[in-house]
Amino acid sequence: MVGWLFRAHGELCASHPWEVIVATLTLTVCMLTVDQRPLGLSPDPHMGCGWRHDCVGLEDYNAADVIVMTLIRCVAILYSYYQFCHLQKLGSKYILGIAGLFTVFSSFVFSSSVINFLGSDVSDLKDALFFFLLLIDLSKATVLAQFALSSRSQDEVKHNIAHGIAMLGPTITLDTLVETLVIGVGTLSGVRRLEVLCCFACMSVVVNYIVFMTFYPACLSLILELSRSGESGQPAWQDKSLIMRALHEEDQKPNPVVQRVKVIMSAGLMLVHAHSRWSFASEAEDLPVGNLVTGNSAGSLNGTEDTMIFQGYILKWLTVNADHIVILILLLALAVKFVFFEVKDELTKCRPSEYTGAHKRLMGVEGWVEVSGSSPQAEDIVSVPCEHKSVQTEEPEEPIHQTASSEPLQEDDSKGAPPTEDRSVDECLKVYKSEAGARALSDSEVMTLVACGHVPSHQLEKVVGDPERGVCIRRKILNRTANLHGALTHLPYQRYDYSKVMGACCENVIGYMPVPVGVAGPLLLDGRLVHVPLATTEGCLVASTNRGSRALMRCGVTSRVVADGMTRGPVVRFPNISRASEAMLWMQAPQNFSAMKESFNSTSRFARLSKIHIRIAGRYLFIRFVATTGDAMGMNMLSKGTEVALEFVQETFSDMEILSLSGNFCTDKKPAAVNWIEGRGKSVVCEAVVPADVVSSILKTNVQALVDVNITKNLIGSAVAGSVGGFNAHAANVVTAIFIATGQDPAQNVGSSNCMTLMEPWGEDGKDLYVSCTMPSIEIGTVGGGTVLPPQAACLEMLGVRGANKVCPGENANMLARIVCGTVLAGELSLMSALAAGHLVRSHLQHNRASTGTSDCGAGSLASCKGKS
Ligand code: NAP
Repeated sequence: MVGWLFRAHGELCASHPWEVIVATLTLTVCMLTVDQRPLGLSPDPHMGCGWRHDCVGLEDYNAADVIVMTLIRCVAILYSYYQFCHLQKLGSKYILGIAGLFTVFSSFVFSSSVINFLGSDVSDLKDALFFFLLLIDLSKATVLAQFALSSRSQDEVKHNIAHGIAMLGPTITLDTLVETLVIGVGTLSGVRRLEVLCCFACMSVVVNYIVFMTFYPACLSLILELSRSGESGQPAWQDKSLIMRALHEEDQKPNPVVQRVKVIMSAGLMLVHAHSRWSFASEAEDLPVGNLVTGNSAGSLNGTEDTMIFQGYILKWLTVNADHIVILILLLALAVKFVFFEVKDELTKCRPSEYTGAHKRLMGVEGWVEVSGSSPQAEDIVSVPCEHKSVQTEEPEEPIHQTASSEPLQEDDSKGAPPTEDRSVDECLKVYKSEAGARALSDSEVMTLVACGHVPSHQLEKVVGDPERGVCIRRKILNRTANLHGALTHLPYQRYDYSKVMGACCENVIGYMPVPVGVAGPLLLDGRLVHVPLATTEGCLVASTNRGSRALMRCGVTSRVVADGMTRGPVVRFPNISRASEAMLWMQAPQNFSAMKESFNSTSRFARLSKIHIRIAGRYLFIRFVATTGDAMGMNMLSKGTEVALEFVQETFSDMEILSLSGNFCTDKKPAAVNWIEGRGKSVVCEAVVPADVVSSILKTNVQALVDVNITKNLIGSAVAGSVGGFNAHAANVVTAIFIATGQDPAQNVGSSNCMTLMEPWGEDGKDLYVSCTMPSIEIGTVGGGTVLPPQAACLEMLGVRGANKVCPGENANMLARIVCGTVLAGELSLMSALAAGHLVRSHLQHNRASTGTSDCGAGSLASCKGKS
């Protein structure tokens, strides 16, 4: 019954906000303007406390009073500051704004009440208001705001406010009653100053209650109505990154035992008040009026000399101003702390290394997570949906790409689920098709729509309007449908910039793969020192390349790009060989090639066709288009240009059939002699002369042994193996590690790793070592593809080749190709030395099995395997 009454009241306030606000304002203004008469309980304006004071006493400060009041003011300011800082941690500007409004308006009503009902003058407010600040409790206001903000749509706002009032109303009413009665006891104390302060305190509690029950819910409803975002029609507070969706309602329910105690206490206190006031009133009738007026006010002027009065005024002036200065300093200090330090602190807290306890929970758990402020109070804890977790870490100082979580993936929404149950498919569909769209649906509701085929899984990011949430939902779907049992837990997905991935680098995203990145170098390449990032999971690789770079430090490496041309080789078919050969000759004729080139070049600002290389096979033609592509690796650019150029050829040879834009004569991502012989992408060569002493001191071998191993292994051995382009020790290791670190297409390591390593004795006595690497087909770029992703771009930046070279397009890609070739040379030198010195197995075992402890398992399983066979 009581709950119903409060609910009805809440609904009234929320659905008629304007009326309630205007009524409250009118009443407040009335309070200010009605005739100042004492309340019924104390008909005499000079009567000692009760409900009517002249409050003159507060004006008559002595030094001790000033100090006490200054302390109270400071405490009040600090308390208010604490409350707002605490609210700020909830992360919603709405809550902060609403609480601010609540405080300001309550203060206004309170001031009016004090001035009017207590018959004080405006100067008394400076004490009264500080008292009010000390007693105002924003926590309940915050909880009600959270109820309102938990609404998924405007329609739900009224319902949720009414629900909130129904839940909080009875407790708050009882609390107000108890507080008023308890504090009211102070007004009977007979200690004048205490009586005055208790009057203020009682007034604070009552005003707080009245505003909370009337103006506040109305205002809340109005603010949320007005902040409905224009463009999307979405509730604006839901557009923001934090939504207080799921308050723990259980926490708001009062403890029945405590409630009962409060009721009994109130009854007792009421009796005390009734008895005291009755007897007090009758005593008051017998007392002479003057007895109730303080001696100070009555007799201070009588018998006091003028000089004394003057000194008193100066003293008072000085103390009052000192008081003001203290308050001002405190306010300034708090303002400085808030502006310069609080925000910074919040950001620092968001850094992963400092995630502990509750923060880790926030980072790690999928589905619903708890966000807790500094206080452990129940109302400080709200749940936010997983898709909004990132909010707590808004604007980190450095982007973070790996979750710190090790907690299991929660696929079951029932754990920490929102208070509202999932809606039916039809209801969800209605919301999905409405203006609000899938944003207004919970994760499990979106999953239901995906399962029913209403939402395509590959469009989740777009549909929910939040890439990270889309990825999170896809993981949940996968986990459920493929029965993965939390297998994805350690595949991170949070706090990653998916905007650069969508529609460019990957589809159906379920996370990202962190790969360790080591640094080798510095490598002295063409007179410049470079630190080379290598992304790899092979132990030894970085260490080995580093050793090679060290060995090359004194002599340095010289490199040259000798050819540049990305290729695309379509296959076309003619009715017969005569038409095919006719077309072949036509395309090779310089004037026709020029025309083809013109159409090819028209497709890009940077792609420039340099030659075509045609091979005939029966009535088929394989046309290898070769073009420079600026700083891009260029596959897409080549495809685009080739298509247009072929259309141009078709204008003359209408019987030419384009079978495939790629006829494998390109050749992309497959081993092929054409790339080895003709080159593809950048053709690079580099060399170095390593002094004999470096060979022995750093590489721990000698020139003769190195040359020997190189000939037998890299040349004869590879020839025996029938290798194409594999005349090296491990060029692919370095190529792939740099490719992954710098956002290249990793599959292009196939052709890019083509390399011939040559070694010769050097110098008059042949004691130095000449070494060179020839790499004819490094397919590489510094724009396009994965190079745009921030971590990969960071590695390019580290090498000084990020993005397009504005002065000389293509120079960045050329430089990167030279770095690849130079680093390959360092890697070759080190590995070949290890082989020559017989160190390979020892160092690999040392680096690969240092911490995993897998050696025993491997040996054991092999033995048992052998036993079985
Ligand atoms: P892209 O990103 O498709 O094209 C490069 C873009 O950058 C072009 O729009 C180009 O302008 C622009 N650009 C700006 N400044 C430039 C500069 N200085 N030099 C060169 N271009 C500059 O990149 P792409 O290299 O052609 O293709 C790489 C992607 O293709 C990778 O994602 C790779 O995985 C993928 N790929 C595709 C195929 C395929 O068959 N299509 C095969 C393998 C790999 P313009 O528009 O004026 O040219």
